[in-house]
Amino acid sequence: MNRQTSQSYVESELDFERPAEKWVYLFSEGDGKNKRLLGGKGAGLCEMTQIGLPVPPGFVITTKACLQYFKKGFQLPDGLTEQVRQAMQQVEKAIGLGFGNADLPLLVSVRSGAAVSMPGMMDTVLNLGINDETVKGLIKRSGDERFAWDSYRRFISLFGSIVLNLDSQYFHDAMEKLKQDRNVKNDIDLTAKDMQELVMIYKGIIGEHYGKSLPQDVYEQLFMAIAAVFASWNGKRAVDYRREFKITPQVADGTATNVQAMVFGNMGEQSATGVAFTRDPGTGENVLFGDYLDRAQGEDIVAGIRTPKPIAEMRQTMPKMYHALMDVRETLERHFKEPQDMEFTIEEGKLYMLQTRKAKMNAAATMRTSVEMTQEGLITKEEALLRIDPNQLTQLMYCQIDPKNTASPIAVGLGASPGAAWGEAVFDADEAEKQGKAGKRVILVREQTKPEDIHGFFASQGILTSVGGKTSHAAVVARGMGKPCVSGAGDIKIDNLNKTATVGDKKIYSGTVITIDGTSGNVWLGQISMVEPEISGNMSTILQWSDEYRRLGIRTNADTPADAEVALKFGAEGIGLCRTERMFNASDRIGLFQEMILADSLEERSAYLRQLMPLQKKDFKEILHVMQGLPVTIRLLDPPLHEFLPSEETLEREIDTLKKCQAAIKNVCELPEILPNGNQQVKSMLTEGEHMLSSIADLQAAELERKQDTLRKIRFLREVNPMLGHRGVRLGITYPEIYEMQVEAILEAAGELIKETVPVHVEIMIPQVCTSQELKRVHSLIMRVERGMKERLGSTVPFSLGTMIEVVRACMRAGTLAQMAEFFSFGTNDLTQATFSFSREDAENKFLPFYTEHKILQDNPFEILDVKGVGRLMAITVEWGRKTRPDLKIGICGEHGGEPSSVEFCHRINLDYVSCSPFRVPVARLAAAQASIKEKRGMIKPFH
Ligand code: PEP
Ligand code: MG
Repeated sequence: MNRQTSQSYVESELDFERPAEKWVYLFSEGDGKNKRLLGGKGAGLCEMTQIGLPVPPGFVITTKACLQYFKKGFQLPDGLTEQVRQAMQQVEKAIGLGFGNADLPLLVSVRSGAAVSMPGMMDTVLNLGINDETVKGLIKRSGDERFAWDSYRRFISLFGSIVLNLDSQYFHDAMEKLKQDRNVKNDIDLTAKDMQELVMIYKGIIGEHYGKSLPQDVYEQLFMAIAAVFASWNGKRAVDYRREFKITPQVADGTATNVQAMVFGNMGEQSATGVAFTRDPGTGENVLFGDYLDRAQGEDIVAGIRTPKPIAEMRQTMPKMYHALMDVRETLERHFKEPQDMEFTIEEGKLYMLQTRKAKMNAAATMRTSVEMTQEGLITKEEALLRIDPNQLTQLMYCQIDPKNTASPIAVGLGASPGAAWGEAVFDADEAEKQGKAGKRVILVREQTKPEDIHGFFASQGILTSVGGKTSHAAVVARGMGKPCVSGAGDIKIDNLNKTATVGDKKIYSGTVITIDGTSGNVWLGQISMVEPEISGNMSTILQWSDEYRRLGIRTNADTPADAEVALKFGAEGIGLCRTERMFNASDRIGLFQEMILADSLEERSAYLRQLMPLQKKDFKEILHVMQGLPVTIRLLDPPLHEFLPSEETLEREIDTLKKCQAAIKNVCELPEILPNGNQQVKSMLTEGEHMLSSIADLQAAELERKQDTLRKIRFLREVNPMLGHRGVRLGITYPEIYEMQVEAILEAAGELIKETVPVHVEIMIPQVCTSQELKRVHSLIMRVERGMKERLGSTVPFSLGTMIEVVRACMRAGTLAQMAEFFSFGTNDLTQATFSFSREDAENKFLPFYTEHKILQDNPFEILDVKGVGRLMAITVEWGRKTRPDLKIGICGEHGGEPSSVEFCHRINLDYVSCSPFRVPVARLAAAQASIKEKRGMIKPFH
């Protein structure tokens, strides 16, 4: 939707019928808990005002007013302008200045603020209320001519780009040109006269590109700015951001607009502006952390225009202000019980708070603050666990630079968001998106990033900037996303035009592989080796606390001993799914397995299976050994057989080549008959080579025949809908010798381990079951194998038999299946496919993105369990299954087993465990604990 420009506000006609809705709340009256109505920023300002912190006076225009603005076709809602005028009078009274008053002018900021923070995604206008008259008053009031003109030119550029929708580059270029003309490096070096000249130039830009002059009426400025802030809610950046972070209307609907008296960090020597965190957002350490800039306004810091100073320096340069800030920090943490991210301004030696919100932290910092705030008595253990987003834990699973690395970095910047990443350098966000979508690993390299680069962040492994501090846009956004970021690597000179960067005598081109370490700030050329993460320190404390609370068991999906070992390290209590088919794909057995599939008779197939048996047995033995008596659910073969065979296309191509060779050899052999008599030399060569050619021809004919035979068999096995075809238990029943071999391998592996006094706990699971007859057949097959083993070896091993629940009919027949099955495991990948009739192979790259984007479906059901449909089936299955067998063990092994909201649902339907990939195990542990705590606190209820 296009952003609205100056015509977008219309003062409403008076409504005589009924009192207008309350759209405007003074900071002293708004309910700071109501973020939905007042937005996060507005709520924070109200809360800070009401607990006595120094906040410049102002008011919030509600999110409802924003929604009404869209509803009315981009018009401010009835009664709003009147309420704004009244609120403005209160602000004027509180601060002793007048809005539009030529002697004592009040300037205001107009800022967006939705219910959840969307940093930099929407718009802000500063210094509003300045015009050709009030600028003179500001000169008088401040006694600082440069400051007044600087404020005016800042206003025009923001108003021009945000409200009038002009390209901000016009203003940037004009400023750069003036700096060049004056031969100065920083904006701070420009004089009052220069600033005044810039105002004239900027006004010229407005006249030229907007076609009208800058509005001089301050209320006209204000209402246009309010409309523009509202409109920015539906700007491209904001819409993209909401989509990516799943900010639905239930989470945040519309933006509030905050109008607040300006205080000036750029007024005189004793002024500054800064952004600070009550604790270090990179590490969680309990220290005041942030940046500040002397004589500057807030946007200078975020935009990274000058490199700011670390806040610790303020202790020396402005000790009184530093201590005032430390007091504010303590008050805020005690009040909110969360580390805060705050914006402040110091105007002529007085501290003002302009914003506070929950600090976005990376996972390591979140863990540390949870543990330390609990130890400090600020929060309880339960609160410590609830405040962590389980998905964040995967950030700690990021790789780190190998400590043994000896390669020297080519540059060092600030470690702005931890973790290491490598990829090809790209110099703009669009390119990053393009390459990322094509499956390439890329690092976005920029001088500094802007909010419109957000799509490039999503697609990149990490971000590298040459300018900006730890609170620059790049740093804040990367930390929020948990992506590694190095900022302010000043030695890297970036040439955007030619898409290259230079560091000393080294060059980085578009596509050059680089590595960044967002912990140390180092940058290398090439790919540096990395090490896997470990669970230790605060994360280990958090996970131990989680284990105290959770009721759900946590298992893992692991097909190899290596996977199983990783999962054990992360706290898995068993294997919930061991997919045996993966073992057949290993290079030392795929050939045998293919021969087995293509065998012409049962005897031939059995012979190949006998060769495969010891290999499978070895796999099972290793995996059972690693698990040392923890339950291991081994699933018998599931996928259709042709998945293991070469593709038809490959075979057809090879057959074609062989045929062409055959023809070529034949032609060569006919050559002597065609050659002219005189060419004796060629004739004798061909006679000598005849023997060799005929051997090649024989070999080739045999190979051709073999391949043609394979192609025939592959065509025979081909199915139109293989996922609904000859797979799972259907395969096991029609080729019982395959399941027999697998069961024998499992039982013998377990038997040998028991003899070696290694504890084992075996569970055999059957895939794709839809009728109890199938289960009965497999049961008697297993009994047969067990009897055979007893006869051969004199003993057998204990095991339990269960079924996957991944077919709708299995859900409906749960009561009967439970007569034979000792456990159920929900295969929600297939169950989702079966419930929706969406192909799990195709839906996600065909229509599902459209469905979720247009809210036909709230989420991708293959990622987030569909509670209303699939979940309902699961709940019924649990109820009916346990009616037959009250101690029926039930788990889940589809991908949803590691997704937090799905884990919560599994808790609500009283499953025994969830099983997920090894790297999701910590996520599932925490999510399971949160579900228990939420239930205890009445935040969720059992699902019936
Ligand atoms: C499932 O369907 O959820 C499952 C775990 O099995 P697979 O993904 O192997 O089909
Ligand atoms: Mg399945």
